[in-house]
Amino acid sequence: MKAAVVSDVHSNLEALNVVIKDIKKRRIKKILCLGDLVGYGANPNECVDLCLKESDHIVAGNHDWAALGKTDINTFNPVAAEAILWTQKQLTDGSIKRLSTLPLTESVGDIFLVHASPKEPEMWHYLFRLEEFKKHFQYFEKEVCFIGHSHMPGAAFQDANGYTDFIRDNPFPLIDGRRYIINVGSVGQPRDLDPRACYAIYDGNARSIEFIRLDYNIPRAQQKVLDAGLPEALADRLLVGR
Ligand code: ZN
Repeated sequence: MKAAVVSDVHSNLEALNVVIKDIKKRRIKKILCLGDLVGYGANPNECVDLCLKESDHIVAGNHDWAALGKTDINTFNPVAAEAILWTQKQLTDGSIKRLSTLPLTESVGDIFLVHASPKEPEMWHYLFRLEEFKKHFQYFEKEVCFIGHSHMPGAAFQDANGYTDFIRDNPFPLIDGRRYIINVGSVGQPRDLDPRACYAIYDGNARSIEFIRLDYNIPRAQQKVLDAGLPEALADRLLVGR
């Protein structure tokens, strides 16, 4: 199986359109989506529509749950909470219905999909440090677990002896006997100081993973955020990628 894995679209239609176009140009037939379709950006309904239309499997993110009232926004920073309240007002009944159907986890072939972490997906844990990645390998059985949530693309492997390390290469090979937790980064709000939209390609036949970065019309996405009356900080961060 070959699949594109996307995450953290966050209502950024400009970025999502560019990513989907790139996936189609590469003739990749399968799209797996790790949630956070909404929150932060100006096109929640359009992004829900497009993700549901193009993806083969989607799991829910914390912003999707917050938009549905299933996660307490008191756990969100004020700017994120304001964007959720705005999003709740925008979402159509159709979008709400579709977001409500998304599961927290999904297994596809040798792959496990979850928005935040294999352990306690509904707790929305962040994985940043190697020690944090290490703790989560025992909570899924597949060879590869794809995550999003931190908006920081990256990968860690664990071998049969429990040795765990980050992988810095791009692309990199999947090696027999190793298991992987791979953060595919964010389509709509990258935070690794690279403002370009990010997604990953899983190639189960060639046994490889590749991170893709794409330029998109950032000024247009920023203008939409401002025109919507969303916090200015949400427009600013798109340009710096954090
Ligand atoms: Zn997110």
